[in-house]
Amino acid sequence: MQFTHEHREIQKTLKRYIDEQINPYVDEWEAAEMFPAHEVFKGLGRLGLLGLTKPEAYGGMGLDYSYSVAMAETLGHIHCGGIPMAIGVQTDMCTPALARHGSDELRAQFLAPAIAGDMVGCIGVSEPGAGSDVSAIRTYARKDGDDYVITGQKMWITNSLQADWMCMLANTSDGPAHRNKSLIMVPLRENGKPVKGFEVGQKIRKIGMNSSDTGLLFFDEVRVPQRYRIGEEGAGFLYQMQQFQEERLWAAASCIESLNLCIQWTIDYAQGREIFGATIADQQWVQFKLAELKTEVESLRALTYLACEHYVAGQDVTEWATMAKLKAGRLNRLVPDTCLQFWGGMGYTWDNRVSRMFRDGRLASIGGGADEVMLGILSKIMGIAQRPDHRA
Ligand SMILES: Cc1cc2nc3c(=O)[nH]c(=O)nc-3n(C[C@H](O)[C@H](O)[C@H](O)COP(=O)(O)OP(=O)(O)OC[C@H]3O[C@@H](n4cnc5c(N)ncnc54)[C@H](O)[C@@H]3O)c2cc1C
Repeated sequence: MQFTHEHREIQKTLKRYIDEQINPYVDEWEAAEMFPAHEVFKGLGRLGLLGLTKPEAYGGMGLDYSYSVAMAETLGHIHCGGIPMAIGVQTDMCTPALARHGSDELRAQFLAPAIAGDMVGCIGVSEPGAGSDVSAIRTYARKDGDDYVITGQKMWITNSLQADWMCMLANTSDGPAHRNKSLIMVPLRENGKPVKGFEVGQKIRKIGMNSSDTGLLFFDEVRVPQRYRIGEEGAGFLYQMQQFQEERLWAAASCIESLNLCIQWTIDYAQGREIFGATIADQQWVQFKLAELKTEVESLRALTYLACEHYVAGQDVTEWATMAKLKAGRLNRLVPDTCLQFWGGMGYTWDNRVSRMFRDGRLASIGGGADEVMLGILSKIMGIAQRPDHRA
């Protein structure tokens, strides 16, 4: 996969916005444990960056997925992981199923304003009792006349302290766990006020991704019209698994540039810091370690581009996207940890860029499917483990 002039122009536009409108405020937003999502998304929306791969009819640019990869990479220039993640939720996690399977009415009501940056979205899959095992969610959408009445809890939801709507996975019948779920568009706030029955139970404090807000949410008989369901009833689990493909490709692409920056900052520091009559970078051990890390990151790039190429060609990329997500999780631990060591005590200070990456990057092995979940999927594809359907 080669980036064209158009990819580079989009990257340049985004980089300028990051340098002028995001990076100067990152420290402030990290300390506040919140960033102004509506303000930042509006700026990105004006530049057309929130709908690169979305249909033109709803304000998108109708481009192929390689443009999403190009954008995700450039988000790595943001001086923290939380804001890229929040943007990725909007572009590649809570909107793909809506764009692909949503009715025209739903897309006009929810997708178009998300692309314009007028509405903030979130994706509601995980619950207190169900994270890795998505099939175990308990939130239930009961039919009542033309409505669904939704009761349950969602946990760990990124953007949820500010979001206008949630793309929610809920049980809509009592049938088998993989066929009883639907994706439903649930308005969370109107004019900034929570809708009836919706409540933020807790803003969750975390070891990293601090500028990104994460909530535990309660739904008590929240009423939405049944026409707010995305696509077919009972197809929600399948739609979510498809949606995870983009989430996982995005997760891989978004850390390539940030990991390379982490290595570069460390080279710069190591070249300036003297120990035992030479610089840290003069130590062959340090040189070899950094060269090894760079090789790992470029391998991740190759894997991600390959996955993207297959995806753009319309193929099922479960295997490639899963491998890329797994590798991204591993490298988000290995690279900042190895680099931090070479900063000595400075690496152990709170405001150090590498230490922030060490804390933020830890999430990559947990969120969007833990490393072990990725390994489970790969084991099934490789025929080592049985698929659930094949069990007696
Ligand atoms: C900061 C943050 C943001 C998030 N944002 C969102 C969001 O916006 N929307 C959303 O829906 N969810 C979100 N999540 C939830 C995230 O996807 C889940 O945390 C993740 O899927 C893991 O689920 P869990 O935390 O319930 O861990 P569990 O499911 O309890 O798993 C715990 C651990 O068990 C191990 N494990 C799991 N499966 C296996 C296996 N098959 N074999 C061996 N070991 C295994 C893994 O090490 C795993 O980390 C977010 C989480 C965090 C921390």
